[in-house]
Amino acid sequence: MRALRFHEPLRVALVTVPDPVPAAGEAVLRVHATGLCNSDVRVYLGEKKAMPGVIPGHEVTGAVVALGEGAAATIGETVSLCPILCCGHCSFCREGFRNRCPSRRTLGYDLDGGIAEYVRVPAPLVAMGQLLPMDPSLPAERRALLEPFACVLNSLEALHVRPGAPFAIVGGGPMGLMHLVAGRLYGAGPILVVEPEPSRRTIAAQLGADAVAHPDDAKRSGDELTRGEGFPAVAVAVGFAEAVPAALGLARRLGSVNLFAGFPPGSVHTLDLNQVHYDEIRMLGTQNAPFALYQRAAQMLPRLDSLDRIVTNRYRLEDAADAYAARLEKQGLKSAVFMADSA
Ligand SMILES: [Zn+2]
Ligand SMILES: [Zn+2]
Repeated sequence: MRALRFHEPLRVALVTVPDPVPAAGEAVLRVHATGLCNSDVRVYLGEKKAMPGVIPGHEVTGAVVALGEGAAATIGETVSLCPILCCGHCSFCREGFRNRCPSRRTLGYDLDGGIAEYVRVPAPLVAMGQLLPMDPSLPAERRALLEPFACVLNSLEALHVRPGAPFAIVGGGPMGLMHLVAGRLYGAGPILVVEPEPSRRTIAAQLGADAVAHPDDAKRSGDELTRGEGFPAVAVAVGFAEAVPAALGLARRLGSVNLFAGFPPGSVHTLDLNQVHYDEIRMLGTQNAPFALYQRAAQMLPRLDSLDRIVTNRYRLEDAADAYAARLEKQGLKSAVFMADSA
């Protein structure tokens, strides 16, 4: 099969490798589409670690085409996957936080992922129900959003986003816009999206933001929307340390600020400790999502037509390396790679 290989930072290439054959308990998917995540771009830039030689791609949707002995999956079924391989017995796994398992490995980083014609799904992942059935009539780009949408739901849950409660999103890239779509679905409002790029502010407004603002106007706009009180929930969906003080400035007393995006290694930020203390601000972080939120995301995706606008850049497998270049140049919103006969 053809696959993209990550050799080392700034070097990915299309290669031909043997088709995966499933061992006992394993499944093989014929990949329909795989989304390119900002974390894939961070691996490409050398900011985040992945195994040299790995096939990238963790936002995968496809059809089950082969099963190893005893694998609990159905040939022909369309699925999207939760790409986390965990131990299943540590305290995090037992509490449902497979994403926080100390021995976690992830498809696309530590094991071959989905920027390929086929992907082999490890036995524990099949056995733990992490192939989530999807309606095959849903566009492949939407099915490929299962993982990032589950991550967004985790952010909203951590922030206790509630119906009728103001919600601020710092960053109007694909993940910020998915926070907006999810926030609307939760009934939160008014929702403010803070984003420097005018074209992204326009899309945020079209996707239902009550207000959009350039970072320089964020505080004023936020005060207007919340009568000066600030936001009970603020999501930071951009990996710049400078976004953190701005996010803290938007938070209401007793509000929560979630660091959703990853930051370049060594990013530090000086906190006004008294702001945290006297305003009783909750600073949080979320990364990936507990499995239950993948299940919830799978149920919600069929109703979220607006998410189709998030995938703006479509690539064929042979052009997958270009998908990285487009992200570096910040062309469009999100990239996805579509395999030959499913584009
Ligand atoms: Zn992702
Ligand atoms: Zn574990």
